[in-house]
Amino acid sequence: MAPEGPGVLYRFVGPRVIAKRDDGIARGTPIASPEDVLRWVTSNTEGHQSQGEVTVTFVVNEAGTLLIADRHSEHVACAGNQPVRAAGEMCFVVRDTSVTVTRISNQSTGYCPEPECWVGVVAALREAGLEPTEGFDPRCEFRRCPECRAINLLKHDVFECVICSAELPREYNCQAP
Ligand SMILES: [Zn+2]
Repeated sequence: MAPEGPGVLYRFVGPRVIAKRDDGIARGTPIASPEDVLRWVTSNTEGHQSQGEVTVTFVVNEAGTLLIADRHSEHVACAGNQPVRAAGEMCFVVRDTSVTVTRISNQSTGYCPEPECWVGVVAALREAGLEPTEGFDPRCEFRRCPECRAINLLKHDVFECVICSAELPREYNCQAP
């Protein structure tokens, strides 16, 4: 049975030691409206930071809901160790009662989501009454090294492992068993 919702599901592929710390309870706060963002910012940042730009860790869960957490949180904790439709970092600018999304990336070495997971981000933001940006910034591409198994974030289309210098595959391979 195909899972509902846009895009594909990404399971956690980072170090097991990080996943094990988690008890399966999502630490991320579900965002269903701009007011949810305002509430989160008020209760999770110092007073002087409640106006201006705030960067958070985010995932889009299987149900298609946006979950946000402190930017120092692991994506796997934000998601409660569950598969996700998207993961990365998001910036909000909060002014009085208005919330604007100013930057979204798919930078998550825990889930290694492909740039195509953008559809899931757009759907989750629209569902919450928030306007998405033009696209991922940065737009990350991940590969797993076939030799040393390290997760690589591709930079400038260089297909070479930063750990062992082995050649990295052209095709996405991070979710392969
Ligand atoms: Zn390697």
